[in-house]
Amino acid sequence: MFSAEEKKMEKLYESLDLLKSMYQIARVVDPVFKKVLEYKIGFLDHEDNHCYDFWQKGELCENCISMKAYNENDIFIKMEYLQGKIYMITAVPLNIENRKLVLEMLKDITGSIVVSELGNENNIELENYIKQLNELAIKDSLTGIFNRRYINERLPAEMIKSGVAQEPLSIIMADIDHFKKVNDNFGHTAGDHILKEFALLLEKNIRSGKDWVARYGGEEFLVCLTDTSKDVAKQVAERMRKATEEKVFEYAGINLKITASFGVCTAEGNPDLSFEGFLQSADKNLYTAKKTGRNRVIA
Ligand code: GH3
Ligand code: MG
Ligand code: MG
Repeated sequence: MFSAEEKKMEKLYESLDLLKSMYQIARVVDPVFKKVLEYKIGFLDHEDNHCYDFWQKGELCENCISMKAYNENDIFIKMEYLQGKIYMITAVPLNIENRKLVLEMLKDITGSIVVSELGNENNIELENYIKQLNELAIKDSLTGIFNRRYINERLPAEMIKSGVAQEPLSIIMADIDHFKKVNDNFGHTAGDHILKEFALLLEKNIRSGKDWVARYGGEEFLVCLTDTSKDVAKQVAERMRKATEEKVFEYAGINLKITASFGVCTAEGNPDLSFEGFLQSADKNLYTAKKTGRNRVIA
């Protein structure tokens, strides 16, 4: 006979197999005992008993994000350097029959960022460099909010977390209406100013620490609302729409007005929903909002 915990773990391991194509390494760890449990994707030659063995420092990690994820019941992301490679690590807290565990997902991102200064033997410089990279890799340089890479790392993790906790997860895709005209009529720097202000406006309308906002690209933004039903997500989007419509954006002595369209999508206990499918559904609703007159919310 399998216990309820064993059954749940088995189910979790099955659902995590989706991660195989997305991460070099994924593993379930018990962060208190620093133990790697049964579930592992893509392992090294040696058998890692302790989670920190992977980093080959022979000691506990100074900045253990799995412990942070465990304590704060939230997802954390950081970067680490190992043998010429830079890894982005995402730690997702899991609660299995009252047993608290953490899913760690590691991706080698060396090839996708500028690493010209690597190879420098100075460890302090390297540490600072990694710190800077930690910021650079996940933040958008214009608006200061999270970037597309962060969405790719964090949203699948949010989906797993909400699936295990059986909580609804909502996203809002927001796109400024006729933004090209702002650039054409008032210049690109005025457009940049509006993008920054719009990002701030979105951030003001979420719960800090629970929800997050990222720049999806251009004048398109993604809002992620954890443990949020469709109805509530719709209300949040409507609040954002109204605040945008009412705001006067001042730039170089000119008062500018804009509107934005919003597509909402909620994942509610659908284990087959993919990360791409989730984004596409929100995008489809955004497209409908555009088609049906703009300055509206479609859920
Ligand atoms: P729609 O209502 O259909 O969304 O129309 P739109 O004009 O907003 O959409 P479209 O995709 O035609 O144009 C988006 C514009 O956003 C074009 C591009 O120049 C501008 N844009 C993208 N990134 C930036 C940026 O970083 N700064 C500025 N100023 N403009 C940007
Ligand atoms: Mg637009
Ligand atoms: Mg757009």
